[in-house]
Amino acid sequence: MEYSAESLGRDLKSVRKYFGSGKTKEESWRESQLKGLQNFLVEREEEILRALKKDLGKHYVEAFRDEVGTLGKALNFAKKHLKKWMAGEEAKLPKIALLSSAEIVPEPLGLVLIISSWNFPFGLSLEPLIGAVAAGNTVVLKPSEMSPTCSSLLATVLPTYLDNNAIKVIEGGPEVGKLLLEQQWDKIFFTGSARVGRIVMSAASVHLTPVTLELGGKCPALVDSLTSSWDREVAVKRVLVAKFGACAGQACIAIDYVLVEKSFSSTLVTLMKAGIKKMFGENPKESNTVARIVNHKHFMRLKNLLTDPRVKDSVVYGGSMNEKDLFIEPTILLNPPLDSPIMADEIFGPVLPIITVEKIEDSIEFINSRPKPLAIYAFTKNKTLHKRLLSETSSGSLVFNDAILQYVVDTLPFGGVGECGFGKYHGKFSFDAFSHHKAVARRSYFTDFWYRFPPWTLNKLQL
Ligand code: NAD
Repeated sequence: MEYSAESLGRDLKSVRKYFGSGKTKEESWRESQLKGLQNFLVEREEEILRALKKDLGKHYVEAFRDEVGTLGKALNFAKKHLKKWMAGEEAKLPKIALLSSAEIVPEPLGLVLIISSWNFPFGLSLEPLIGAVAAGNTVVLKPSEMSPTCSSLLATVLPTYLDNNAIKVIEGGPEVGKLLLEQQWDKIFFTGSARVGRIVMSAASVHLTPVTLELGGKCPALVDSLTSSWDREVAVKRVLVAKFGACAGQACIAIDYVLVEKSFSSTLVTLMKAGIKKMFGENPKESNTVARIVNHKHFMRLKNLLTDPRVKDSVVYGGSMNEKDLFIEPTILLNPPLDSPIMADEIFGPVLPIITVEKIEDSIEFINSRPKPLAIYAFTKNKTLHKRLLSETSSGSLVFNDAILQYVVDTLPFGGVGECGFGKYHGKFSFDAFSHHKAVARRSYFTDFWYRFPPWTLNKLQL
C-alpha cells in the first residue's frame, strides 16, 4: 500500500480519536489485545516459522525458541500481572504532608510508534507491542522491510487478531520510516542501528517526543581457563550457540568477540572447533541449523570484513561462504588486528574473533577502552573477577557463565547504555516504557503547619 503524508495523517487522526474515546484504557480491551496476540502466535505458528525460514533460514527449533516461545512466555507474564501493573502503587509521604495520601498512577501515553529490526522480526515487533497495549496505548508498528515475508505476515494477518481501530501495522522501508517520523507521536520505540537511531532522536525532538532506542554494539565474552572439563565444555557450548545458533550471529546481544588468556587460547580454539562440529556437523551448510545472512548487501559486508588482507590470515576455523545461498560458515579468528574493521564495527554475522590477553583480568581494561557494550558475558568462577566486572565495567547487561539468558528473563530490564541506546523494556519494564507515571496526591482540609503561610513574624537571624 502506498502512503502519503496526507493519507497517513488521516489514518493517525482516526486512531487518535479512538484513543480519545477511552476504549483502550479499559482493562478488558488490554486483555483482549494480549489474547489476540496469543491467538496469533498459536494459530499462525506454522506460518511464522515458515516465514522465518524463508527470510532468514532459521531452523524451526531456533525460530520457535527465539520468537514464538519467547513471545508466548512474555504474553503469559503480561496477562498474569496486568491488573497489578494497572493498579499503580501507593507512595510513602514525608511527615510534612500530614493527613495526606499519594499514589503513582500509570496512564497510557496515547499514540505510539514502534519501528523494529529484521533479525527477530516477530520478537522485536511484538515484545514492545505487548507493553504498548498492556499500557493502554494505540499503536502504529513498522516492521523491517529486510525480512519481507515476516513483515507481510505482520501487516496482513496480525491485524485480523487485533482491534484495527487502535493498532495499525504499516509495511515499508526507510521512506515509510521517514514519513512516519514526520508525524507527531506520544512515544517512539525504535530498534535498529545507531545511525537510524540518531535520525529517530532528531525527528522526536521536534515534538519533544520521548524515545526508547534499542541499538547495537560489540558484546565481549570473557572465557576464563575454568579448571574442570565439564565447565569448559558447557562454557564453550554456550559461547558457540550465542554466536552461531542465534540468527547466525545477527543478533544485538550475540557474542561479538571472545577475550581469553594467551596460555588458554589454543585449548579454547581446539574445544571450539570440536564444539562447532558437534553442533553443526562436518558440513554446516548442509545441516540447515545455521541461519542465512539476511541479504546480499550484508553478505558482502561480512565477506569484505573476512577477506580483508589483514584479517584473512587470522582465520583458524571455517571461512567458507556461498554467495548464492547467503551462507557463511561458522568462522573463528585468532587475534585479528585490533584496528581492523572487524574489531572496530559490530560484526553481526557468524564470525567470532578470539583476542588474547596476558591475564584474564586485563579484559576489564580492554572493554573499558571501547564504547560501552550492550552486554558483557563472563565465563568464570573467579568471584573476585565477578565483583570487579560488576563494579568496574558498564554495559546494558552483565551475565556470568551464560549468554543471551538476560533476554528471556521478564523480571530483568532489557536495554542499552551509552551508544547502545537508552530506555528499557520486557515484563513490567515494557509496561512502564509506554506509560506516564502520574503523581497523584490527596490532602485533607484538616490542618497545616503554621509556617506554611505568611505572615512570618519569627526572624531568628534578624535578616
Ligand atoms: P536499521 O537502523 O537499518 O533499521 C531499523 C528500522 O529502521 C527498520 O525498520 C528500517 O526500515 C527503519 N529505517 C531505516 N532507515 C530509516 C529512516 N531513515 N527513517 C526511519 N526509519 C528507518 O537497522 P537494522 O539493519 O534493522 O538492524 C541492525 C542494527 O540493529 C544492529 O546494530 C543491531 O545491533 C541493532 N539491533 C538492536 C537490537 C536491540 O534490542 N538492542 C535488536 C536488534 C537489532
